[in-house]
Amino acid sequence: MNALLHLTHDCNLRCPYCFTGKKFDREMTIETAKKTADFIIEYAKEHGQRAVFSFFGGEPMMAWPVMKELVLYAEQAAKAAGVVALFRMNTNGMLIKEDHLAFFEEHDLIFILSIDGHEEMHDSERVTEGGVGSHAVLAKKLPMFLEHNPGLMASVVITPHNVRHTAKGIAYLWDQGFRFQIIKPDVTQAWTREAIAELDRQYTAVAEDYLTRTRAGHELYLNLLDDKWINHAKGAEGLSIRCDVGSSQISISPAGNLYPCVRWVKEDEEGVPNLGNVFTGFNPERLAEIRAASGAPKQPCGDCSYNDGTCANECACEHYSATGRIDTPAPALCEHEQVIVPIATRVGNTLWRERNPVFMQKLYPTLPKLIQIRTDRNDHADDGANP
Ligand code: SF4
Ligand code: SF4
Repeated sequence: MNALLHLTHDCNLRCPYCFTGKKFDREMTIETAKKTADFIIEYAKEHGQRAVFSFFGGEPMMAWPVMKELVLYAEQAAKAAGVVALFRMNTNGMLIKEDHLAFFEEHDLIFILSIDGHEEMHDSERVTEGGVGSHAVLAKKLPMFLEHNPGLMASVVITPHNVRHTAKGIAYLWDQGFRFQIIKPDVTQAWTREAIAELDRQYTAVAEDYLTRTRAGHELYLNLLDDKWINHAKGAEGLSIRCDVGSSQISISPAGNLYPCVRWVKEDEEGVPNLGNVFTGFNPERLAEIRAASGAPKQPCGDCSYNDGTCANECACEHYSATGRIDTPAPALCEHEQVIVPIATRVGNTLWRERNPVFMQKLYPTLPKLIQIRTDRNDHADDGANP
């Protein structure tokens, strides 16, 4: 079970695109944290799964004492139950210091850093309560973070407001030493024709830059391109990030209430429908409803040629936030995919034609001999088969 834990409703930033609700000072108590750990471990044991504790926003580092105690408790409890416990975190990184990194290392806690590229791009959205950009503070910490974890993943949000900075922002992160980037467009906002046209220009530039860097021998991961190729080469099961609300993924609020996903938690007030709580367990009817809705075919997708795992239309809670329905993707998501899929296909075909060693090793590590035979036989031929 991947449990996304909201240890607090508070955050030291006020990003306008934040989807986790109002920010206020309410933390998970130690009692609830321990009960939460027991609940996750028991569920994981019963279903033969690993217990993944993923700390999520508000900013989890604002509840550092609770997180620390929960990790120490869960480690012991999981060991006693014979369950593998893993710890993950999504953080804005502002409060992380060197001694935290030592703890993370000791307990194998891996974090994903929310950073929207270079200063101009990042500070146009990621600001403090007083409206001050947070890039300067974060930039100073990047060398320390990357030294601690060279595989650190950057999570970047693109909006109609910051889209014009995208190519520069992503290039900045490669130049800082990031090798993994997840780009998420905010599809809950309205994207005008002009914004979509700008997105196309920016993604084309991002793809060109990626091509140059790959040709120079750098092995990078950019979900916008790599996920499309992984899906093509290995099928949907090759992708590690797939939405599975209510089955192997659940969100738990500071009060211990259970929700299908992070976007449902919000202020976690009385009366907001949830799936139960860690003290009394799941509400079976609500759980069955969510699972059925999540597994239902996507409404407008039908026989769209991208509806074969190519389109990133799997996030049920993103659909819910944008359209109010679990099974109906946002129009902006659809437009985004129609921009990025042809670009990913073009770049993938180029790297395939060139038999680029980084690309081949990444996508087809077990095929070098077959590729060689095929290349020998077709020397100058190119069937453009992949991806
Ligand atoms: S840092 Fe994360 S939790 Fe905080 S306001 Fe920004 S998006 Fe929301
Ligand atoms: S491109 Fe649009 S219609 Fe096609 S699968 Fe994606 S969301 Fe559905």
